Amino acid sequence: MTTLVAAGATDVGRVRSGNEDELLIAEPLYAVADGMGGHAAGEVASAAAMEALLVAFDGNRSGPGLVDAVRDANRAVWEQSRGRSELRGMGTTLTAVALIDEGGEEVLAIAHVGDSRAYLLRDGELTQVTEDHSVPEELRRAGRLSPEEAATDPRRHVLTRVLGVDSEVEVDTAQLVPYKGDRLLLASDGLFGELSDDEIASILRRRSDPDRVAKQLVAMAKDAGGADNITVVVIDVTDDDDRAAKASAKVGEQSITAMPRPVTPSLALDADAPTEKIPRAVLTEDRPSQPPPAPATGETKVEAPIKARRPNLATVAFLGALILVLGLAAAAILFSARGSYYVGVDGDEVAIFKGRPGGLVGFGPTLEERTGVRVAEVLPSRVDDLRKGKREPSVDAARSYVREIAEEGANALLASTTSTVPPPASAPPPAPPR
Ligand code: MG
Repeated sequence: MTTLVAAGATDVGRVRSGNEDELLIAEPLYAVADGMGGHAAGEVASAAAMEALLVAFDGNRSGPGLVDAVRDANRAVWEQSRGRSELRGMGTTLTAVALIDEGGEEVLAIAHVGDSRAYLLRDGELTQVTEDHSVPEELRRAGRLSPEEAATDPRRHVLTRVLGVDSEVEVDTAQLVPYKGDRLLLASDGLFGELSDDEIASILRRRSDPDRVAKQLVAMAKDAGGADNITVVVIDVTDDDDRAAKASAKVGEQSITAMPRPVTPSLALDADAPTEKIPRAVLTEDRPSQPPPAPATGETKVEAPIKARRPNLATVAFLGALILVLGLAAAAILFSARGSYYVGVDGDEVAIFKGRPGGLVGFGPTLEERTGVRVAEVLPSRVDDLRKGKREPSVDAARSYVREIAEEGANALLASTTSTVPPPASAPPPAPPR
């Protein structure tokens, strides 16, 4: 029987007037949520998400149940935001972990949307289990920003995925096999916005109980500036049914339970740690469009040999008719594929394409014009549409759509910038790193 001991702490910080973060400790379910929206809407969003999460997970305590519960939480926030004008546009992050039974094995299931994080401290090494759904972190994963640039990018509060802004949401999932001594951390960005991963790791490594560690983390982030609400949940695996002992007896046995995609290598936080070490935590996405894995090196594709054969008259006539039909079909497809426009993404820029998103039977779209609008400048809720390709009947219609989303994004960025002002001059200077 796996035993978990958990504690949490939350603080409004030094700058914000209200705390829009929420935490949940309801064994075997733990979560943090970071709400956003005008006035008190952020608080409403994170609270609604937590409530729906808890109720739905109670109805189905499984891995799929956890993902469904996050989707329920999304719908709960979405529906509330549509019902009341003062709540329109509100949203929340949600990072949840639950101990579940998966075919007789106890595992920690993680479900995640937004830029709150789950970390794992194992054998003294800290690994970020979740990926942030924020503009700079997406750019960092695409290789366009360095980790340092991403950490200080002014758009780091602009999220690419969040609960409550649409009726459906894509949920990242991961599974961890819990070992005695593991320490999990769920945190809102008010923590890691103030403290480096090294600072967080050094506190997590202390051998104190989760309650003290949670309070220390929050206090340190507040000392360091406290520009945002700070929320953490610390979960210790105190018993693992001898799993760790059995695993060390079978040295070399892999404990990866989901697809073997390691968390980003740059997340191996200990500078001395070998970078090729595969963390046991893996992140999978329930996205159907995941490209198939590249064939293993050395694997060669063998084509069946084609036999030469002399064609007879009927075959020739048939082929002639077939070519004619195919030609007509191709012309129709070409017209359909090339006779329309869509707004999509070219690199990190919003662009207008001629053709259909993804092309049509071999007729790929072509770039019609660049717009000068960066994807990062567009509202997160629009980015999904852009990635899929937003179809428009004409170039003019496409241009006016681009104007609309650029304007909307600029307004949102302005709002998010003004809501994350630096601490006032009267605030004490940031504490020196310990
Ligand atoms: Mg926050």
